[in-house]
Amino acid sequence: MPDVHCTVNTCKYWQNSNLCNAQQIVVQSDAAGGFSQNARLEQLNATPASTNDETCCQTFKNSQG
Ligand code: SF4
Repeated sequence: MPDVHCTVNTCKYWQNSNLCNAQQIVVQSDAAGGFSQNARLEQLNATPASTNDETCCQTFKNSQG
């Protein structure tokens, strides 16, 4: 799987430097999302979430259980 960069740092699959370590992910569209293509991915600000309804990624699992 290619590197997946993610800022949802409350997910059990999230790693330092904004990397995802899940074996596969499911992503849905989010018209309100996005950022500059020139952004340095590993330096994006964290965007914590509590449930997968709060993310574009339906693979999200809260690291707190
Ligand atoms: S929210 Fe999705 S992309 Fe982000 S770390 Fe979790 S599984 Fe990976």
